[in-house]
Formats: sequence, structure tokens, C-alpha cells
Amino acid sequence: MALIQVRNLVKEFEGQTVLSDIHLDLQEGDVRVLMGASGSGKSTLLRCLNRLVEPTSGSILFRGKEILGPDVDVRELRKQIGFVFQQFALYSHLTVLDNVTLGLQKLQGMNKAMAKERALLELSHFDMIAHQDKYPSQISGGQKQRVAIARALAMDPAVLVLDEPTSALDPVMSRDVADLVNRLHGEEITMICVTHDLHFARNIADTVMFLDRGVIRADDCIDVLSQHSDPIIQAFFQNEKK
Ligand code: ADP
Ligand code: MG
Repeated sequence: MALIQVRNLVKEFEGQTVLSDIHLDLQEGDVRVLMGASGSGKSTLLRCLNRLVEPTSGSILFRGKEILGPDVDVRELRKQIGFVFQQFALYSHLTVLDNVTLGLQKLQGMNKAMAKERALLELSHFDMIAHQDKYPSQISGGQKQRVAIARALAMDPAVLVLDEPTSALDPVMSRDVADLVNRLHGEEITMICVTHDLHFARNIADTVMFLDRGVIRADDCIDVLSQHSDPIIQAFFQNEKK
């Protein structure tokens, strides 16, 4: 059974169709990259997965169970589907450590000592132990993104969803975060990641889905896509090469 099955998903904003009839299967251990021009609906699609956006119609099954119904426990769902945003979304008034422990205490119900132990374990995987008492303003963009990923993984999600995790970073930091995501790939963490970075995509992706104005136009390995006959996909790869 697929971990996530999206069927006939439609999202309209004020009468404008942003996602039309999306089908998508994510298997356990899959690393899927989602690409497409700005405004093509990538973030909206990701946000539907944990109901940050309510779809207009369609179905999303998580482990075979519908997540779009009225009686779904959205809090529970969001524990299962970890999100990392483009802008790091760390709490600026909390230390690195407290950014990670907050969700463990509030959502997982851990006591302070347990949450700290769990957070430090995750921060150690990301070489951030030495920075645990710093505030977000005192660490670099790449380090903030490491903390954001550590925070998401500390919750032991079934899927890690990353929306342009490297786009706010300079190339060196971007490579650093890409290497990190690549390492997670080796650990068989299920991921779906929006990126414009072809090099990054080549490193991590099993397949790349290409979204164009709310429609998945292709879903294939990146080498096939880069030679694709579809002019819209070709144009996208041409632009990326410049
Ligand atoms: P992408 O992530 O591919 O750049 P988005 O999913 O952010 O695209 O946006 C797709 C389209 O939906 C855009 O036209 C955007 O303006 C529109 N959109 C996104 N969020 C909202 C919203 N909350 N209200 C109205 N329109 C929105
Ligand atoms: Mg987006």
C-alpha cells in the first residue's frame, strides 16, 4: 500500500483552479522531487497533504485512510507529516534547543527532560549541539535550515515534506543542506521535496514530478525529463541551464 495516495485532487482559490485532478502515489522510502514554474501549485499541493490548505475536492489517503474528512485529527496528521519551509520558520525568541523541544512537549506530550534528550540527539545528527543555546539570529541560514529539519525529524514523522529548503541559501549553504537531505535519503526516510535546484534533484530524487499550471505533466527520472519532448518541460530545463 502506498503511504500517501492523492486522487482527483482539485484546489480552487476564488474561482481560479490552482490544482486540477492531481493523482500522486508516494511509497514508503520514496524520495520524490516536485518541480515546476513559480505559481504552478507546488506549495499548494504540499500544503494539502497536512491540511494547511483545504482542497476543494478529491481524496488524500494516508496509509489507506482518508485525511480530508471532518473527523480527522489534524494534530495527529501533522505529527505524521513533518514540514520544512523555504523560510526557516524558527521561533526567533526561542533558542535552537527550545525550537526543537517545543513540539515534542506540546504535540508529543513529552516532559521537559525527555524532550531535551530527544532534541539533543537530533541536533547531534545535524552537528548543531554546540549551537543549542543560540537564538536563530545568531546562526547562519544553512544552520537555521538544519535546525528546521532536525525539528521536523525529532517528531518521527512518516513523511518529511520540504518546500524549497535551499532556495533562501547561498550556493555553499545550499550544498550543505542538499548533502544533509541526501544523507537522509540513505536512511530511507520518505520525502517529498520542492526544489528548483537540478543538481540537488539529481542527487536525491527517485523520480521528479513536473507540475505545470496545476497539472502533473510528467513523473519520471530526471534524465528522462531533461530529454523530454514536451516543450514546456524542455523550456524549464533550458532556463535552469542559463
Ligand atoms: P508554487 O509553489 O508552485 O510557486 P503556489 O502553490 O504557491 O505555487 O501557488 C499556486 C497559485 O495559487 C498561484 O497563482 C498563487 O497565487 C495561488 N495561491 C496560493 N495560495 C493562495 C491563497 N491563499 N489565496 C489565493 N491564491 C493563492
Ligand atoms: Mg511554492
